[in-house]
Amino acid sequence: MLENPFESSGNWYRANLHAHTTMSDGDLSPEEAVDFYHRAGYQVLSITDHRRVTEAERRLADLLLISGVEFDGGRSRQGTTYHIVGLGVRSRGRVEVPADAKAQDMVNMVREDGGEAILAHPYWSGLMAEDVVGLRGCFALEVYNTGCDLEILRGYSTVHWDDLLTLGHDYGAVAVDDGHAGAVDHGHGWTMIRAEALSVEAVMDALRRGLYYSSTGPEIVDLQITDSKIAVKTSPVRSIALVSAPGAGGRRIAEPGRTIADAEFAPPRGRYGRIEATDADGKTAWSNPIILQSGSDE
Ligand SMILES: [Zn+2]
Ligand SMILES: [Zn+2]
Repeated sequence: MLENPFESSGNWYRANLHAHTTMSDGDLSPEEAVDFYHRAGYQVLSITDHRRVTEAERRLADLLLISGVEFDGGRSRQGTTYHIVGLGVRSRGRVEVPADAKAQDMVNMVREDGGEAILAHPYWSGLMAEDVVGLRGCFALEVYNTGCDLEILRGYSTVHWDDLLTLGHDYGAVAVDDGHAGAVDHGHGWTMIRAEALSVEAVMDALRRGLYYSSTGPEIVDLQITDSKIAVKTSPVRSIALVSAPGAGGRRIAEPGRTIADAEFAPPRGRYGRIEATDADGKTAWSNPIILQSGSDE
């Protein structure tokens, strides 16, 4: 069940939920990663090294660290590997993935370890809808991944997200850095989380309930959903779209050289609708989907 963060109480916290350090193949030490995201104005960071739950020694009162890990394994129909990010797991240090683990096994490992799972960078992984349609238990996929974008222009997974939503899988979406190379791929994709407090319990609860949206730049200021309309307010952007079923949804585009900061749409005719706002530089904000008919995950 995905709730509307704009109809929920609490504060907004900026989060990076996918990060590597020198404890796996990243360029920053855990302490440097903590300092980078603190200086960049984030309040939540999960260090998700490959097959390792890294604990940073450096602790800052206003940067919440959530334990994290990234698993890789399984084989898609194309022979590529699934990557699954786990957040809020109890394990610490090295975590082995059995050689014969399938994608579902890795999701189950995360959840049996007290955490929540994200389907990482499906476009970069070469996954197609049929590779993911049977997978259960991920609360979100990465709609944007900075590292995958800068490395090989496979950072955006919006089509994967729409395919899964259309097929009845109610994924939320996070934007993440997945940075490996110092300042180059850090600070470009983030998730805004609406939580009651800056605590692991409150932030994990917000993620489970869908109380977040993702961005590479624009801000979603408000999103109100009634039976008669969907009304959205954003920071100044070039376009605001309601993405829904083919032939449904809509898009408002500013006059050349101008911006818009609000839009209204009729409720989507498909099983879901989601807001996507894009500025003149192509930076984008993604709301979580508004689900109109419960899907196969319910
Ligand atoms: Zn990965
Ligand atoms: Zn990664």
